[in-house]
Amino acid sequence: MTADTPFIPDLPPDLAPLTRRQVPLRDLTTLRVGGPAGLVCRLTTPEAALRFHRWVENSGLPFYILGAGSNVLAPDDGFAGVILKVETSDFSVTGNLVTAGAGLDFDSLIAQSLNAGLVGLEFASGIPGTLGGAVMGNAGCYGHEIGEFVRTARLLTPEGHIEEVGADEFGFAYRLTQLRETGAVLLDVTLAMCAGDGDQAMAVRHERIADRRAKHPVDQACAGSWFRNLPAASPDDRRQAAGRLLEAAGAKAMHEGDARVFERHANIIVNAGRATSDQISRLAARMQAAVRDRFKVELVEEVRRLPQNPA
Ligand SMILES: Cc1cc2nc3c(=O)[nH]c(=O)nc-3n(C[C@H](O)[C@H](O)[C@H](O)COP(=O)(O)OP(=O)(O)OC[C@H]3O[C@@H](n4cnc5c(N)ncnc54)[C@H](O)[C@@H]3O)c2cc1C
Repeated sequence: MTADTPFIPDLPPDLAPLTRRQVPLRDLTTLRVGGPAGLVCRLTTPEAALRFHRWVENSGLPFYILGAGSNVLAPDDGFAGVILKVETSDFSVTGNLVTAGAGLDFDSLIAQSLNAGLVGLEFASGIPGTLGGAVMGNAGCYGHEIGEFVRTARLLTPEGHIEEVGADEFGFAYRLTQLRETGAVLLDVTLAMCAGDGDQAMAVRHERIADRRAKHPVDQACAGSWFRNLPAASPDDRRQAAGRLLEAAGAKAMHEGDARVFERHANIIVNAGRATSDQISRLAARMQAAVRDRFKVELVEEVRRLPQNPA
């Protein structure tokens, strides 16, 4: 089985309309690189998720779970398996609790919560991707993380059961949970918000979006910060920005073809046109080596790598 020609058994007729074959991963990821995925299944409801999961298990095909693909590097040769693309997107409010589908756009969730009079997540305004991707990676910025808000969630377990779990079971850590890439599909999440000053929260939201526009390549193909920030020097300090070390190590001048280090942020790689996944990988390796040589520090990637030939 090669990356672009997996054998895909027949799907139940009612699931087939929710699938597409040979979909370029560049169309599913914000870095806009990557060859074809054998099959993409749209998990639009928990029931569809359950049935696709069963079908994939029976087929024996490898699978990878994707939200909006804003934190993923996909291989040039594609993925010889099934992409389970989470698109559950319901939104409801009960008191101060917001429950939403994991496929809902994270920024829309923030906007809808504010419209419902609930504040708290406005600090994260403008983070791309889905709610599910944000929770599975404990997305955050400005010293806060989404894990602070999660109360419960519904997961499709690797064994194929839909289960409700509490926040503790995620094991939230810096840009990490213990559930990510275990095969569990996050279906929906309940977040505890506050009834607060909506005008003030909206002002914070606009400020954060403007700040992102000024500092991040919001209109270019990228996957956000490439490397994780470093542990704080002391418990009272913030994490040390990997971007500072990268800048001091000369990363901003680096490129591999159209894979370039963003001129305003040395920890972001942009695809300035026709970059390949291999070029991006080579550039990331050079950036990492420059910091290693200069500071004897080993940077760790934050971006997830979609495997070409998964086990
Ligand atoms: C311009 C830009 C700015 C960014 N700024 C920030 C920032 O400030 N802070 C920050 O934390 N991140 C930031 N990011 C990174 C990215 O937006 C976040 O990591 C985002 O939460 C990823 O969501 P996604 O839906 O795109 O996930 P994907 O990229 O699709 O997936 C990421 C990982 O989560 C898993 N996953 C996704 N959805 C599910 C699900 N429903 N169930 C199980 N597993 C799932 C995938 O398997 C993969 O391992 C930025 C990215 C860009 C492009």
